[in-house]
Amino acid sequence: MGTPLDDVVTINAAGSFTRAEERAYMMGVCPECGAHQFVVVAHTRSTSQIWARCVNCNLAMAINNGVASPSQKPLRVPSGLPSEESELWGEIRECLGVGAYTAAVMLCRKLLMHIAVAHGLPAKDGKDRAPNFAQCVDHLVSEGVVTKRMEPWIERIREVGNEANHEIAPVGEESALDVATFTQKLLELAYEMDETMARTQPAQ
Ligand SMILES: [Zn+2]
Repeated sequence: MGTPLDDVVTINAAGSFTRAEERAYMMGVCPECGAHQFVVVAHTRSTSQIWARCVNCNLAMAINNGVASPSQKPLRVPSGLPSEESELWGEIRECLGVGAYTAAVMLCRKLLMHIAVAHGLPAKDGKDRAPNFAQCVDHLVSEGVVTKRMEPWIERIREVGNEANHEIAPVGEESALDVATFTQKLLELAYEMDETMARTQPAQ
């Protein structure tokens, strides 16, 4: 039996595309840099498998039956993040991208606590104990990093995150995205605004 026609791989480097040929390009969102256009390097005739490359950062991607790998990371990277925050936020987005929602929420809680300490909360109290989640939240509120209007959201991160820490109740996609969206807002308020201000400060 020969190769089914649908499985024949077309490689565009070896062939030629006319300017109007749409299959040479692909739209999407690059998981690495967020750019929207890809060059299709090769595809099967049925396009059930596509090999593509981001035109901006050159990331190589494989798409099997519509599922891209590496996967898309939801949300965005606020500017001005210190390296530890940036690394952890990257990991959270990666968890979300592969459906590891419970892990994502636990990391969001961890990040929130880290931000509180980075914004002046002592890392250890008089009894050499690290602050708990509630103390971290209170600190962020009293420092004004979290605004009054964000408090209902804080309650949600508290509830969802608690479950993740004490039970094995898995967190669903919606709750995880909720918590992560809040965390992104927090990163914007805690770091991005200052960075933007510094960048746009008129020269003295
Ligand atoms: Zn890219």
